[in-house]
Amino acid sequence: MTSEQPAAHHSPAPGSRPSRVAFPSDALDGDELDSPKEECGVVGVFAPGEEVARLTYFGLYALQHRGQESAGIAASSGRRIVVHKDMGLVNQVFTDTGLAALEGHLSVGHCRYSTTGASSWVNAQPQYRETPAGGGLALGHNGNLVNTAELARELDVPSGNDSEIMASLLAREVDVSLEEAIVRTAPRLKGAFSVVVMDEERLHAFRDPNGVRPLQIGRLPAGGWVVASETAALDIVGAVYVRDVAPGEVVTIDGNGLHSRRFAPPNPTFCLFEWVYLARPDHRQDGGSVLYARRSMGRQLAREAPVEADIVIPVPEAGRDAAAGYAAESGLPFADGLVKNRYVGRTFIQPTQSLRQLGIKLKLSPVTEIVEGRRLVVVDDSIVRGNTARQLVAMLREAGAAEVHLRITSPPIKHPCYYGIDMATRAELVGADLEVEEIRDFIGCDSLHYISLNGLIASTPHQREKLCTACFSGEYPIPVPGEHEQLAQIKFEFSESV
Ligand code: SF4
Repeated sequence: MTSEQPAAHHSPAPGSRPSRVAFPSDALDGDELDSPKEECGVVGVFAPGEEVARLTYFGLYALQHRGQESAGIAASSGRRIVVHKDMGLVNQVFTDTGLAALEGHLSVGHCRYSTTGASSWVNAQPQYRETPAGGGLALGHNGNLVNTAELARELDVPSGNDSEIMASLLAREVDVSLEEAIVRTAPRLKGAFSVVVMDEERLHAFRDPNGVRPLQIGRLPAGGWVVASETAALDIVGAVYVRDVAPGEVVTIDGNGLHSRRFAPPNPTFCLFEWVYLARPDHRQDGGSVLYARRSMGRQLAREAPVEADIVIPVPEAGRDAAAGYAAESGLPFADGLVKNRYVGRTFIQPTQSLRQLGIKLKLSPVTEIVEGRRLVVVDDSIVRGNTARQLVAMLREAGAAEVHLRITSPPIKHPCYYGIDMATRAELVGADLEVEEIRDFIGCDSLHYISLNGLIASTPHQREKLCTACFSGEYPIPVPGEHEQLAQIKFEFSESV
């Protein structure tokens, strides 16, 4: 349910909803917290003589946080590709018997959160296509294309799943190798795409010229290769990180080793939000560590927004390292004042309406012994709609907190992401039109501070020009068809409502 309130004013009654943004229901959507939703994770393995499907399975297991709706693995022993995919978590989709049936020397795997296309078995990946030459290909994609509709018109297929369209485009290239098909096709794809794709004999991986989503190459001790979204997937199978797939590069791995081609010059604008929230803390990229970056964000927040308080607590899990950084910089003690129920994930048994009203309580519980009577600094990664933060503050006050000071390791999210992260529509983003003080009033905390964009960027190993900051700044590095029209429409609705 969303509803536009009738009149704008700068000082809404305390606790009431400010009126310049449409708010969804207070109830959480299913069992999800108000965080951006991850996109997808991909894994590719080329390792003759090893159990490639099992290695891929463990890689996906390490990437489960990037997508929990469906999972799949395709494998080939050189003659034909076998695909197994289904709805559910990685360990729900695969059994020992299922993995044993995926024999071969190479495989690709995927875990999915849908950003375009419905959440269904058909849209689960890897996507398989037969080619005119009688072979096949299987593809796993992390990211989101912004020219899907245009490509769908060209292919004369219903618009929807960009990965499906990408697989179809590659499969219709005739009389050329899959590598050549990628080099011909990739320049026509616009948006974010980190892709693993295989035919019966070779593994390929390619990444959009902006390198929005990560894609990394590792080497197994016995000489095989692994390509994956995050270093955690390399670590879990004992692969040693070699390098990233470069923006605009396609790598091909076969019995002769790895070779590389370019399909476009690199123009890197890596996703800044991977550093804040999306990637696992043990992920390493571009010479930097996510763990250290998040600690640095916490230290920066402590310098930008000190406050007299008794204790620093994280909102688990993404706020943990930043809270440790805030505590270290401020000299305040750190404590786990919130316990996360780690078994409430994205399930297929949705809570009933009455359970939904419990909202955040399904996922987080305050530790009374820690919060009661104390002035708390609460560190979290982001605020999307604001409802969860509001419930969290109320819950901490119920548990006896004397004061609640919220510190956020990202700037206000003002714009939607079109490159593969499901945040919310612009109308749902609490940061889109409201001032920080209005948001604080809605959430009901004693103080609220977001890290500055410059402070956030300085916590990563990158310069600003090498980062996508669009959800904070509105500066989209890859043009998004219709973005300006959408913005104009929102402004029109706003001026109508005031
Ligand atoms: S818009 Fe935000 S979430 Fe999306 S790619 Fe850019 S920085 Fe990342």
